[in-house]
Amino acid sequence: MADNVNSLPFFYGNITREEAEDYLRQGGMSNGSYLLRQSRSYLGGFALSVSYMHKYYHYTIEQEHNNTYAIIGGKSHRGPEDIIDYHSQEMDGLVCLLKKPCNRPKNMQPKVGPFEDLKEKLIREYVRETWSLSDTELEQAIISQRPKLEKLIATTAHEKMPWFHGNITREDSEPRLQNGPRVNGRFLIRQKDANSYALCLVHEGHVMHYRIDKDRSAKLSIPDGRKFDTLWQLVEHYSYKPDGLLCALTQPCLHGDGNIGRPRLPQDHPGQGATGGFFSRLKRTSLPIPGRKNPRGSANNTTDNLNPYESSIPYYQSTKEAMPMDTEVYESPYADPDELRSSTVQRDHLFLEDGELGSGNFGTVMKGVYKMKKAEKQVAVKILKNSDDNNVALREDMLREANLMQQLDNPYIVRMIGICEVENLMLVMELADLGPLNKFLQKNRYLSVKNITELVHQVSMGMKYLEGNNFVHRDLAARNVLLVTQHYAKISDFGLSKALTEEENYYKSKGHGKWPVKWYAPECMNYLKFSSKSDVWSFGVLMWEAYSLGQKPYKGMKGNEVMQMIDSGKRMDPPVNCPPEMYELMKKCWTFKLEDRPGFAVVEPRLREYYYDISQ
Ligand code: AMP
Repeated sequence: MADNVNSLPFFYGNITREEAEDYLRQGGMSNGSYLLRQSRSYLGGFALSVSYMHKYYHYTIEQEHNNTYAIIGGKSHRGPEDIIDYHSQEMDGLVCLLKKPCNRPKNMQPKVGPFEDLKEKLIREYVRETWSLSDTELEQAIISQRPKLEKLIATTAHEKMPWFHGNITREDSEPRLQNGPRVNGRFLIRQKDANSYALCLVHEGHVMHYRIDKDRSAKLSIPDGRKFDTLWQLVEHYSYKPDGLLCALTQPCLHGDGNIGRPRLPQDHPGQGATGGFFSRLKRTSLPIPGRKNPRGSANNTTDNLNPYESSIPYYQSTKEAMPMDTEVYESPYADPDELRSSTVQRDHLFLEDGELGSGNFGTVMKGVYKMKKAEKQVAVKILKNSDDNNVALREDMLREANLMQQLDNPYIVRMIGICEVENLMLVMELADLGPLNKFLQKNRYLSVKNITELVHQVSMGMKYLEGNNFVHRDLAARNVLLVTQHYAKISDFGLSKALTEEENYYKSKGHGKWPVKWYAPECMNYLKFSSKSDVWSFGVLMWEAYSLGQKPYKGMKGNEVMQMIDSGKRMDPPVNCPPEMYELMKKCWTFKLEDRPGFAVVEPRLREYYYDISQ
């Protein structure tokens, strides 16, 4: 995995090939001495620099589609460290075996590239301008979608660069360059069409135009030149050295110079503001959701949303799926101050549709539409079956569940919209159309480890929120995680949940009930004690269910057999193809003593790190 490269003493970060050679020279240049650095042309890639017989050799390590890494044309490995281990035993095409790491000088940290700092700012701006979210939701959106956002930003960041002049002609570009100081290396980039750009460069008073073409795998290059994933990497490279150009890039010709104005892009619409253009084009990389209005109120228009880049850029393809923030249930329906929050939903504003979403001992869950003041929301309506004496307890349970849900507001938890009581008691909730996670996984067995980790991480974010607000779920299981999309999960079913007071750190049940024993921690069964730590135990079982694609845990075993197994120190085996890192985390969640068991404040960042790592 490439997550810990920064901690490798021989990883130098974003240094140039020449700097790498300097470090190898200073390190003594022994045969097989090597260092690792960040690739300056491939996103998420690395370069391995090796010295042998007083010469230097540089190998590009590319990140492959299935998140493995390989020296171009070589064997796939889990990460650059594994590649180095392998080549310390096998030459397999390398000039020599890797013998000695050339470590960074003392106190030197891996060098951070110029884009790294800018990236943070751009991601924030992008999320803020694309979805009008509250501060907390914005933070959650960034945490949960960071890998996708980073890719999106990286491949489009040039549009925010001062040297990018958009879709101007060759004739227009020349006066722009010649009107300023005519220093060698003054440059701009213009867009020719969807698949090509031109680098315009001043040399000895003349403007030279170099084509930049995009190949079938979306790599950008000047004819016969080095290939890059992004335009800003290309600019970074040619600013460092001419590498075939008449001179290196020295001074950007700013598109804001004089009266030039902002870059014009091929798909520009009249009247778009500067950042509006950039971000609205970025947004078009998400799939339009039928019937959905975007946060700015205008309906998605599929023709308008066609992105000329989409067909050829794999990064776009990987980000084409809708992000959680694209759905209508990411933000609270009451985020709009004009929509007054009320615990009751008026019956004439609620329209039930045919067809059940699910059922339980309380009754059924139906799909519906709730007409709010400004918006119409698709909803799920839990309907209590016809009242009779037996239902008094069920009714109370349902009202208790509604009351508890009403106190929660998090994008990874199904929100309660209100209660409606006319013909029956009805609990109106956000709709999570794809249903329970376990069933979804059983039906969609192609889901990747990355996708499963993304969903499980979202559940841990919702649980961290509950933990932080002193709520205990008590029925956390894959069946109670509902999917809004294949990439968006929400925790549901708060029928057994409890709010703890400030002083309590656990809930003591009055007796055993109809309990999901296989999901319960030992202290729940032995002492009737429920806390966020016992939810962590259940979360471990949920992880097991998720990575086993919806299988039943402890298959064929009875509740008391499971308890005996746990008491004896045994735990479930890892699901087939479960990443070892995730099985380790499950086992941590199944720590017998609750004092030693991690909380969600620890579990969530672990999952996050792993998810970022495999998504890079
Ligand atoms: P519950 O008793 O809350 O677990 O609900 C029973 C079933 O109804 C669930 O397993 C789901 O299939 C369905 N369901 C419940 N709530 C929702 C919702 N908010 N959106 C979509 N389906 C739901």
